[in-house]
Amino acid sequence: MQNYQMYINGQFVSSVSKKTREILDPASGEKVATVPESNAQDMQLAISAARVAFDKGLWRKTTAADRASFLFKIAQAIRLNAKMLAELEVKNCGKPLSEAEFDVADAAGCFEYYAGLATKIHGETVQVPANFMSMVVREPIGVCAQIIPWNFPLLMAAWKLAPALAAGNVCVLKPSELTPLTALELAKIIHQLELPAGVVNIVTGPGAEAGEELAINTNVDKIAFTGGTLTGKKIATMAANSNLKRVSLELGGKNPNIVFADADFDAAVDGALFGAFANQGEVCSAGSRLLVEESIHDKFVEAMLKKIPNIKLGHGLKTGTKMGPLVSSAHRDKVEAYIQIGISEGAKLVCGGKRPEGEEFKNGNFVEPTIFTNVTPQMRIAREEIFGPVLSVIKFKTEEEAVQIANDTIYGLAAGVWTQNVTRATRVVGQIRAGITWVNHYHPTFNELPWGGYKQSGHGRELGMYGIEEYLETKQININLDTTPIAWY
Ligand code: NDP
Repeated sequence: MQNYQMYINGQFVSSVSKKTREILDPASGEKVATVPESNAQDMQLAISAARVAFDKGLWRKTTAADRASFLFKIAQAIRLNAKMLAELEVKNCGKPLSEAEFDVADAAGCFEYYAGLATKIHGETVQVPANFMSMVVREPIGVCAQIIPWNFPLLMAAWKLAPALAAGNVCVLKPSELTPLTALELAKIIHQLELPAGVVNIVTGPGAEAGEELAINTNVDKIAFTGGTLTGKKIATMAANSNLKRVSLELGGKNPNIVFADADFDAAVDGALFGAFANQGEVCSAGSRLLVEESIHDKFVEAMLKKIPNIKLGHGLKTGTKMGPLVSSAHRDKVEAYIQIGISEGAKLVCGGKRPEGEEFKNGNFVEPTIFTNVTPQMRIAREEIFGPVLSVIKFKTEEEAVQIANDTIYGLAAGVWTQNVTRATRVVGQIRAGITWVNHYHPTFNELPWGGYKQSGHGRELGMYGIEEYLETKQININLDTTPIAWY
């Protein structure tokens, strides 16, 4: 078991209170590590360090090429430590090793992408109706607070830190108290690369105290948050009521995955299962509402049920595991409560719904992949984000009805459409009110493309050129080229 410290002002430190938290392997309940349990006072120290680093220009005054070089070095170090990071991610959040390996490589790719973009932050010159040279320049926002969730810990740290640093900001990042370990390993990597003190601070602690300090502190210029919609609303309110700091929010989803009768049947079956159960369903973009055209509905459900036994549950480090445990016992309780809600609402439980039996599962937070049919759009299991391995299948008769059901949600994060008719695919995707859509696939995510939602799935975008925009201010500069005195009196 390793005892971690957090990273404030270029140093690894304990919390002021000396309190620590035990980190458990969600598959076995074994202790994996201890981390400092910070409070508002620790967070204030980190924010002050970041403020000083920004105001002194320790990072924003470096050249873009130097920032790019630094980000490339982080990526390289992540790749060199990929095995350790992937295994640690599995032990901390439960996901299968193959998924953790993918996340680690993707995190490195994200740093590389923004390393490339660091040198391409351009302004423009603009013709104005006077004798001026007028320019628009882009500048870093300042001290950026970043709160990340527990489902993709290292990857979310990369999505937040890479664009912010590329743009010249300084950061205080708070991982979830449940899954802080790979972020703390990232702190070690950053420390070894000798970034100026205070530019990156990684502070562990509970959302309700350490996280709220980030939202209310007036020395923070911007807060970026990924997590639940309710928490996102609280953060936006705190940000507005303190210093109106900039806010970007990547929140939840109840995403429709729509299968038309003219889809490639086998590909759609795999896409439906992968969309719902990858990463145990703990994915904001999970295809947790499966809309299936009535004429193929029964055959489609039958085909999914035949494949369910291939989704092997187990410890993420065990060969062949396709689905691990849920992140915590509290979260499992929440998922199980939703399964009971589905049953009491009259949906038909066609598989799963319970904990797997056997010695290897007894101390972990496992729940079997669960499918409900006969779900109506009004049921809570069709409307609320469960964030676990629970798929709600809804029948539809026409394309219009499919679009109507798909959009009948407070969320607007992601959607999938399965059809071999390209005209229909284009027409349907065009009507879906969501920020991320896939045709004949589900889940692929690219560092080059904007990630984020419509409606209550948040605002702002991460990744791509759009992601760096969230970390830049825009300034106009007007240089008078006319020496004639101003004639106003
Ligand atoms: P939260 O939204 O509560 O947590 C996400 C992050 O926010 C964590 O770092 C958490 O810290 C922090 N946080 C929590 N409360 C506050 C607060 N008041 N002020 C500042 N930061 C805070 O998600 P949960 O873990 O409770 O999960 C609840 C639901 O949120 C899930 O069931 C799911 O529906 C959704 N969710 C969505 C995610 C997404 O990717 N969009 C990711 C995770 C959850 P800490 O964990 O340390 O308390």
